[in-house]
Amino acid sequence: MISVYLDKVDYRILSLLREDSRVALKELAAAADVSIPTARSRIIRLKDLGVIKRFTASLELQSITNQVTAYITLKTRLPKIKTVVEQLKDIDEVSEAYITTGQHDVILKIYTPNMQALNRLVTQKLSSLEGVETAYSSFVIETVKDIIGPVLRPNFGFKIDCENCGGIVGEGYVKKLTDGREHFFCSEPCLSASTGFVK
Ligand SMILES: [Zn+2]
Repeated sequence: MISVYLDKVDYRILSLLREDSRVALKELAAAADVSIPTARSRIIRLKDLGVIKRFTASLELQSITNQVTAYITLKTRLPKIKTVVEQLKDIDEVSEAYITTGQHDVILKIYTPNMQALNRLVTQKLSSLEGVETAYSSFVIETVKDIIGPVLRPNFGFKIDCENCGGIVGEGYVKKLTDGREHFFCSEPCLSASTGFVK
C-alpha cells in the first residue's frame, strides 16, 4: 500500500462519478470547482492510483423478475475450503463470495429469479458441494443501503481541510449539504462558526 491522500477535488470528482460514471468532464470540473484540464488529469491520476477501477453499468433485474436476493453462509470442513470456493466460481447464482473469519467460513451473495430457485440452490447445489458442512440462507426483505465499496469520507483515504479553521478534518467530522455540495468541518463548533453554513 502506498500512502497517498486524496483531497476535496478528488472527493467531489469521485462522488459524482459514483452516481453517474458517464457524467461529462465539464460537469465534473464544475462540481469540483476546477478547470476541465485539471479534472481530466485528476481522473487519470485516480485511475493510475487504482482508486477508479472501472466504469460499469449498474444493472437491476427487479423490475422484470421476482428477483430474490439472499446471503448464504457456509460452514466447510476446513481443509476443503479451497475446493469449496473453486466450485462456487462456477455457480451462476453466486455473484459475490468471501472467505471470512468467525462462525462461518464463507459468505455468499446470491440472486435468483424466485424463492423456489433459491430453495433449489441451497438444498440441491450448495449443500451437496464437496466440503460443505452446512448452508444457511437469509433472504433480503428490504434493501436499506446499497453502496458498492466504501462510503467516501474524510480520514479514509482523503485529507480534507475544515472549511472554517483550515485544519485537517478527522474522525469526528461534520458534513453539511448546501447548494448540492458537501462541505466538511472538523467539529460542530466549526460548523456553527462558519458563516453561510449555520444550521
Ligand atoms: Zn475546523
